[in-house]
Amino acid sequence: MDEFAVIDRHFRQQRVQRDDVPLGIGDDAAVIRPPAGRELVVTTDVLVNGVHFPEDTAADAVGHKALAASLSDVAAMGAEPAWATLGLTLERVDEAWLDSFCAGFFNLATAHDVQLVGGDTTRGPLCVAVQVIGIANEAGCLTRRGARENDLIYVSGTLGDAALGLQSLGGMIVASAPDRAWFAERLQHPSPRVALGRAVAPYASAAIDISDGLAADLGHICAASGVGAVVEVERVPVSDAYRRCLSQAGWEPALGFGDDYELCFTVPPEDARRVEQAAATIAPGITRIGRVSGDAIQWMHNGKPYSIRDQGYRHFR
Ligand code: ADP
Ligand code: MG
Repeated sequence: MDEFAVIDRHFRQQRVQRDDVPLGIGDDAAVIRPPAGRELVVTTDVLVNGVHFPEDTAADAVGHKALAASLSDVAAMGAEPAWATLGLTLERVDEAWLDSFCAGFFNLATAHDVQLVGGDTTRGPLCVAVQVIGIANEAGCLTRRGARENDLIYVSGTLGDAALGLQSLGGMIVASAPDRAWFAERLQHPSPRVALGRAVAPYASAAIDISDGLAADLGHICAASGVGAVVEVERVPVSDAYRRCLSQAGWEPALGFGDDYELCFTVPPEDARRVEQAAATIAPGITRIGRVSGDAIQWMHNGKPYSIRDQGYRHFR
């Protein structure tokens, strides 16, 4: 099977057919029709086998996660994802693998009404590059730049589950079978917080998605905004499964490791009640973990300074 057959068999069939796509897969380029006068947001993520996911990761998790990473970036901008392209490099054409990859990719795409409009298929070491284009909120985009002294800092969902997924796979921590399954699910099928991003966008002064760990990603908000932060570590939300592993794993996985794809954002104190109300009906909810203060990040645990080791994943040091 050559790449044209792969494209026809696996990528042209999809449930989402948006009416703002006059020309999708099959020509030299796709044609999309954004709403008049609206800005677009564009993001790309590249996932490399053995770097961004363990080499034996199930294909459906690879497809899901590749799209989730870009959807999460669009969510952090407070925008609505609409179109995607897929650059796929494969060692060989393995029909079963491609079926499973497409199930993971297209189930998530359908859930967010995102249409795959094009891409490229090449031969080489397994690598997945996904670009997502979204439609910006009419009020503009959330960026990393707007945090101000005294703003409150929130995160969505729970942190550290994906890290414990990797650690329990690698035998670094011991967890019960159901807890291991929860961690693995969070590692392999992260949920981009698109609805939440749009709901908090009217109130948030800055936002980022947590792909590299809270310490690193809150650090990006602080650097871009020229501020610091005080984070109360004991307020950082962790899952029940994580809490059961807390004595083995400590707080580091929740603070320093990535891959959770939750949102971290700041809100002026006068909007606290409104943002909490806006987020109340949208799973998985939000938690206030600290506030913007000074010019560096200070970690506190039950009122005492707390030092953390990991500063997030970096490809080049
Ligand atoms: P070209 O050589 O003109 O760039 P290709 O032969 O690479 O075109 O691709 C043919 C069509 O299939 C194009 O519309 C392209 O966007 C689409 N396509 C190729 N690979 C993928 C993929 N992995 N996912 C989605 N669409 C793809
Ligand atoms: Mg061409």
